[in-house]
Amino acid sequence: MVKKASTNLQTGPSLKIGVLGGGQLGRMMIQSAIDLDVRVEVMDPSKDAPCSSLTHRFVCGDLNDADAVFEFGKDLDVITIEIENVSVEGLKRLEASGVRVVPKPDHIELIQDKGIQKQFFVDNDVATSEFQLVEEGGDISGFGFPVVQKLRKGGYDGRGVQMLKTEAESSDNRFHEKSLIERAVDIDKEISVIVARNTQGEITSYPVVESVFDPVANLVSSLIAPASIDAATESKARELAMKVVDAMQFEGLMAVELFLNTDGEILVNEVAPRTHNSGHHTIEGNRTSQFAQHLRTVANFPLGSTAKLHNAAGMINLLGAEGAFGNPVYEGLGTAIEMEGVNPHLYGKSQVKPHRKMGHITVTGDSIEEVQNKLLKLQSSVRVTGA
Ligand code: ADP
Repeated sequence: MVKKASTNLQTGPSLKIGVLGGGQLGRMMIQSAIDLDVRVEVMDPSKDAPCSSLTHRFVCGDLNDADAVFEFGKDLDVITIEIENVSVEGLKRLEASGVRVVPKPDHIELIQDKGIQKQFFVDNDVATSEFQLVEEGGDISGFGFPVVQKLRKGGYDGRGVQMLKTEAESSDNRFHEKSLIERAVDIDKEISVIVARNTQGEITSYPVVESVFDPVANLVSSLIAPASIDAATESKARELAMKVVDAMQFEGLMAVELFLNTDGEILVNEVAPRTHNSGHHTIEGNRTSQFAQHLRTVANFPLGSTAKLHNAAGMINLLGAEGAFGNPVYEGLGTAIEMEGVNPHLYGKSQVKPHRKMGHITVTGDSIEEVQNKLLKLQSSVRVTGA
């Protein structure tokens, strides 16, 4: 039976929450935390990380150094992450010393290795593309070509993932590290579902989001919710995402990335054990944003409603333009914010670089078409350059 979370909220100075990673995801979690007087402490390797000036305690440290992670977290009640590339050993030591760790270190460890993650899907009867593990320099021709090769560890935002179209291309460009190959999926749509599950086993999912990728930057360039899929596909996608979270007995918030293939099947691509780019529209689009929901799982508060507040919502990332360096200049943003239902979120990064995520803009509207039109307008009128 699912036990309800406590009706009294333990918050304010009596709840010490720490976050590993001080980027934009942590920053947006802090925005939600302020409303509930949750005081967030942050560790990040960069002294001017987006969270650095907004926390109760900021520690500059290496997230992969077990001792530094332990030292940062040892007096906290609970610790979470906004990036999965952290020292699991440090988190395990914290857990052993009585600090709650959300998500659990074992789950972060599982997800850090794309090979182990894929095997978890197979072992739990979760539909996913066929794959093979490849040793350093091993044979990658098992599925013929095209094939997708992924580094098992350390990839991020499309780095460490490549489609090799031909044998010739594969011998020139292949990764030589430990990797996996996946049969290339004929993708109709890339969709994702954000799921939250708390310690009591309460589980919620958000409506399905459809992502559009920028092939040059290898990042999501825009997304729209709800996805343009039929009701049966929508519920299948949400059920599959919740099945992954349930199978893992995961605690926290997880983004489940899915492929809808051209045969109408849904496959799990990968999961992220944290708030995600594909959930940014929930800030204005849903009753409880992904950041507020994540915080609730971490603080052990009851989960919030994921109901949408508008017929449609969307988002574009604001990436540094080609050749942009120096102090960021948000060209066209003044005009953009005059538009109805347009909300910029800037990440407070002091320096712009080409393709760097500098912020995003969410859009809400009465229909998918209206949101699409606004997103197109924003894509052609807003640019982040440097001065
Ligand atoms: P990352 O962890 O860098 O986000 P992903 O596994 O999400 O890496 O892959 C990045 C992109 O590569 C996906 O969004 C998709 O467009 C493409 N891709 C990944 N796996 C496959 C596959 N098996 N078949 C076809 N395309 C794929």
